[in-house]
Amino acid sequence: MSALDTPAGALPATMRAIPEPLIFESGAPGRANRYFEAAPPLDQLVPAGHGRAELPLPDNSELDVVRHFTRLSQRTFAIDLGFYPLGSCTMKYNPKVNDAMAALPGFRDLHPLAPDALAQGALAAMYDLERILAELFGMAAFSLNPSAGAHAELTALLIAKAYFAKKGEGATRRTVIVPDTAHGTNPASAAMVGFDVLSLKSNARGRVDLAAILDAVGDDTAVCMMTNPNTLGLFEDQIAEIAAAVHAAGGLMYYDGANANALMGNARPGDMGFDLMHLNLHKTFSIPHGGGGAGLGPIGVAAHLVDFLPTPVVAKAGENGTTSFTLEFDRPDSVGPMRSFWSNFAHVVRALSYVLSNGGEGLAKVSQLAVLNANYVRVKVREFLETPYDELCRHEFVASAQDLKRETGVRALDLAKALLDRGYHAPTIYFPLLVPECLMIEPTETESKETLDAFIATFRDVVETARTNPQAVLDAPVATPVRRVDETRAAREPNLRWVPPSTP
Ligand SMILES: *Cc1c(COP(=O)(O)O)cnc(C)c1O
Repeated sequence: MSALDTPAGALPATMRAIPEPLIFESGAPGRANRYFEAAPPLDQLVPAGHGRAELPLPDNSELDVVRHFTRLSQRTFAIDLGFYPLGSCTMKYNPKVNDAMAALPGFRDLHPLAPDALAQGALAAMYDLERILAELFGMAAFSLNPSAGAHAELTALLIAKAYFAKKGEGATRRTVIVPDTAHGTNPASAAMVGFDVLSLKSNARGRVDLAAILDAVGDDTAVCMMTNPNTLGLFEDQIAEIAAAVHAAGGLMYYDGANANALMGNARPGDMGFDLMHLNLHKTFSIPHGGGGAGLGPIGVAAHLVDFLPTPVVAKAGENGTTSFTLEFDRPDSVGPMRSFWSNFAHVVRALSYVLSNGGEGLAKVSQLAVLNANYVRVKVREFLETPYDELCRHEFVASAQDLKRETGVRALDLAKALLDRGYHAPTIYFPLLVPECLMIEPTETESKETLDAFIATFRDVVETARTNPQAVLDAPVATPVRRVDETRAAREPNLRWVPPSTP
């Protein structure tokens, strides 16, 4: 019997095998609790023509609904349940004090359309966070408007487009340079804004080559999008020369700062020559994320691009006891609002709480410990799995199951599935695309040495099991509510909409 037969998932074994019907498939007509039997009939409450009697809404009792969603919540994995080494996602612990601050009634109950005079505290929070981010990353200004990293990339490229249009270079500046170590959202965002994407191969050291950049830039260059450290967890050591080459050609440098956890408080993209950047506050700044939930992806710009930032902008008037804050909408060069209202405001409060509770030195230490933890896991994993770019990494590193697959038939995917059985979230797999059979591991700074050691021992055991009894790994997971899924069909034929059985 291999250790893989011993499930370590969070869910009691008795509940794992029971299928959970959709909420639409449970209940029965008339089952719903009706607290307000005396309420007038629906047609008196809803204007004529707006009621839809035929809507196939499920009729469930309150208890059934509570149990359904509680059971689902027990079948998922969360950072509050266990270690989550998902590379490029920075699944760090989210301190509860951030949520407590966001739940303060003055913030929580504020109406988004409250006049500025009644929202001074909220506007001050937005203003303060924006100023802190600008200082921390060396940019002239940020906008807290975009709701995600990809959303901020889109905003940045719209800004670049507006900037070149204003300079009269809109027709010629058509190309966005994206290295092959970039996140997949980079080329997608550039294409969405109508730019041509030029993909740049990284060199043998996993970095962007200055010679390749000099070759690629020209009169058509609009933006060069870089992630630093890149998705191999490596610092681009020629970044100053690369920025100079792009600028000399008249282009802009964009910094994908989703992984700012590697350098926050220690190095500033503004000082490296970047004109535009984004942050994923839902990664680096400890805001809960995953499952496509709401995030916050502020976009930062250098001085020559401030006028193009989305609206509204929080402006401050007066000093000391007489300060007041207003939302400014009148910005003729702005690309306009990127979303409804004033960003995901509760996340502004969470991020501000995180920044203030750590302080400047604390934030610098966060990234130092993130780098230390990643290197600790890297040198241990190197003992039993290939690590293709074998040098000091930043916040994450990449291992490869290429040799293991050749020897045993066990792939990166199978190792990831086996880790699920042992109570760990899987690392990111098959990304970045340039490393075959890769596993990308990002431990973050919030994990203890004991947690890292336990993960390393488990991972080692999984790889050893792959060598001695590959079938045990190929059969994993056996302890999760859902076992192997058809990954290809899920990607190629996503079926995300429930259709009532009676509907053709
Ligand atoms: C996560 C990530 C993104 C995308 O961020 P979303 O908030 O998921 O849109 C972009 N670039 C890098 C490097 C990332 O790690």
